[in-house]
Amino acid sequence: DFLLLRIREEFIHKALVFLLFFRIFDAIRDFRKSPAYGRHLDSTFNRLGKMSAKVGWILMESPAVFVTLAVFFKGQHNHEIVPRCFLALFEAHYIHRTFIFPMGIKTGATRMPIVTAMMASLFNALNGYIQGRWISHYGYYPTQWLTAPQFLFGIVIFATGMLINIWADRLLLHLRASSQEKVYKVPHGGLFEYVTCPNYLGEILEWLGWSIMTWSSTGLGFFVSTVCFLGPRANAHHDWYLKKFSDYPQSRKSLIPFLW
Ligand code: NDP
Repeated sequence: DFLLLRIREEFIHKALVFLLFFRIFDAIRDFRKSPAYGRHLDSTFNRLGKMSAKVGWILMESPAVFVTLAVFFKGQHNHEIVPRCFLALFEAHYIHRTFIFPMGIKTGATRMPIVTAMMASLFNALNGYIQGRWISHYGYYPTQWLTAPQFLFGIVIFATGMLINIWADRLLLHLRASSQEKVYKVPHGGLFEYVTCPNYLGEILEWLGWSIMTWSSTGLGFFVSTVCFLGPRANAHHDWYLKKFSDYPQSRKSLIPFLW
């Protein structure tokens, strides 16, 4: 049993390192470009095949819902209250991302490269495994953790990030009246007056909150990898708006108000 435990622990560690390098490598390669979906899709992907963005998002994100659930209930602490709180928060984010967010997408029929959906699906399965395994098995969170400053501070950041993320995504999705309308418009209001991508800022805050409340290297790894993915994409969106709209507000930053 001890040997098996060691092998599993090594696997989780290696999987995490792979996950980080996978995303950090992507970020360095794409510092001013962006993963190819949505507005940054180029003709290279025509040959590789594309799929409906709605279906693509469901396929990409569902491993985060189901792998995490399956792994969680195999963990030795799965019946404890704090791990269950973590699971509820993680699942709330991913149930929304997998089944609610895609319903609002209005990008026509074929906007998601199959290869992008497959890579993201793999990432989510791996990350779902790592996070689920940590919160229910390797990590140890007694009931007193509910009043620990890390837990309370982390949960406030997570919840704030989730509200910002959902609000900003909804505003973007409502810019188009229907799937027939393929244009982009300049978003206005709230945090959009300060940054181009408040939805990414919200997402980053969520995983920052997660890393604080779980106080774990697995949480930190996910937070860093999210910054590495969404940071360059925010830069790419910002440059794209500046080129496309001559009247784009110059005072807006890409991701962090007044800074970046
Ligand atoms: P985008 O902001 O690129 O697009 C979101 C949706 O809004 C798309 O359907 C897009 O259409 C539409 N849209 C965006 N801007 C405009 C505009 N100016 N006018 C009209 N429609 C617009 O977000 P992503 O698709 O990259 O990401 C969606 C969500 O997934 C975000 O909340 C993000 O945080 C999250 N995410 C999280 C990741 C992580 O690592 N945790 C990784 C990637 C995404 P179109 O597709 O046609 O551009």
